[in-house]
Amino acid sequence: MVTHTLDTDYLVIGAGAAGMAFTDALIADYGADVVMVDRRHAPGGHWNDAYPFVRLHQPSAYYGVNSLPLGADTIDRDGPNAGMYEQAGAAEICGYYDRVMRMSLLASGAVRYFPMCDYVGEGRFVSRLSGASVAVRVRKAVVDATYLEPAVPATSAPPFAVAPDARCIPVGALPRVDEPAGRYVVVGAGKTAIDACLWLLQTGVDPDAIRWIKPREAWLRNRFFAQGGELVGDLIEGIARQLESAAHAMSPHDLFARFEASAQLFRVDEHVTPTMYKAPTMSTAELGMLRRIRDVVRLGHVRWIDRHEIHLDGGVIAADPGALYVHCAAPGLNPAPAVPIFADGRITLQPIRSGLIPFNAAMAGFVESTGRRLEEKNRLCPPNRLPDVPLDWVRGLLVEMDADRKWSKEPDIAQWLERSRLNTSRGLRRHAGRPQVQDAMARFLANVRPGLATLRAMLP
Ligand SMILES: Cc1cc2nc3c(=O)[nH]c(=O)nc-3n(C[C@H](O)[C@H](O)[C@H](O)COP(=O)(O)OP(=O)(O)OC[C@H]3O[C@@H](n4cnc5c(N)ncnc54)[C@H](O)[C@@H]3O)c2cc1C
Repeated sequence: MVTHTLDTDYLVIGAGAAGMAFTDALIADYGADVVMVDRRHAPGGHWNDAYPFVRLHQPSAYYGVNSLPLGADTIDRDGPNAGMYEQAGAAEICGYYDRVMRMSLLASGAVRYFPMCDYVGEGRFVSRLSGASVAVRVRKAVVDATYLEPAVPATSAPPFAVAPDARCIPVGALPRVDEPAGRYVVVGAGKTAIDACLWLLQTGVDPDAIRWIKPREAWLRNRFFAQGGELVGDLIEGIARQLESAAHAMSPHDLFARFEASAQLFRVDEHVTPTMYKAPTMSTAELGMLRRIRDVVRLGHVRWIDRHEIHLDGGVIAADPGALYVHCAAPGLNPAPAVPIFADGRITLQPIRSGLIPFNAAMAGFVESTGRRLEEKNRLCPPNRLPDVPLDWVRGLLVEMDADRKWSKEPDIAQWLERSRLNTSRGLRRHAGRPQVQDAMARFLANVRPGLATLRAMLP
């Protein structure tokens, strides 16, 4: 039964990175009223459930929302991220989103926020604590900021069975381990499994005490070329190398070989062809650490674990009875199919540039605030499905380059890009006189047309 009714311009479902960045950008230039609903107790979405040692894999400098910086824009001097911009951890990210909610969104007077509430459809949400049911009359649009909600180990059970005599924990429980395990068996091939391996190694676990069960091998982006700010020259150098590779590639296989040779992509095991690409970044130092783990199992997905055996798609292997299994096998990024971002009375937040959830949500918020017609908004904001397999790199780049070309022809968007802290390439103009930037730009311009033509021909 509906307890009361609210009126608003936008009902935003989800106060994660996407919902926060969208709302922040929407209200910055536009007098809209917004109601935000989230079933979690605090803003920040999945970061509230993240394992304690997680870090952004991109610089903090362009994560979060436009109105409030995250971190202090320092370049790490030591550790595996040395020479690159700092990356916030889970506690810092959650604290940041709490500040954004209180000091930017709520303080603006334009936003009302309802945590611990489930959106149940038809403009209605229900409090998880009181059961109160609220109907919302929406004047402009319902904003779905949950469409790409990732699945993380804290909230997804392992996709394999574990006998009562075997010990298996979600990755977030690793820091609470209070007695050494005979062996740490990390199950999963993505960023979470990589983080678990790196954390174990950094906290002094012998590489030979780690077994890594990897159903797939992944391509990983070299973080050195994913920097902005003072290091934006390296970003442009990376893009120039990618277009050079594309312009000369004879096949998808050759393209990825060229990416590897030009240090754009890494793989941990150089003898295995990756079948996965979810775009996490990695430093050379981290790569070196991961390569110290020699006990790598490649027999497909785990089906069943007991004290003495591990049953996988490709066979059964002996288990160490004292092993601790670390569940890192949640799907993570959500490669849901692309749907139009703008529809009549509905906005479904998705990337436009590859990955970069906050930047893309903010772009959608800004474009919405400009009052353009529906078709025009969709022309400027083509959806770009999150990547899953290597060829998604190709598809993602083509969508992104097409959008960037359109944005450059819209003066208000070009100006917004220059002032958006979430835009990685912001400030490029300031560094345009540097020889490194001029050289990279010249190679980019020489290769962009043939490179894009080759990439288009690679897609089915
Ligand atoms: C370990 C890890 C590291 C990552 N690092 C980076 C990075 O460095 N850079 C980057 O760009 N991306 C990174 N990502 C990608 C990440 O998915 C995004 O950055 C972003 O946090 C996702 O935000 P979201 O708003 O789409 O989803 P979420 O954070 O899941 O937010 C969605 C929210 O919607 C709420 N919700 C869902 N359904 C309902 C409902 N019916 N009613 C009410 N509320 C609902 C949920 O409670 C949740 O709070 C990382 C992801 C993981 C898992």
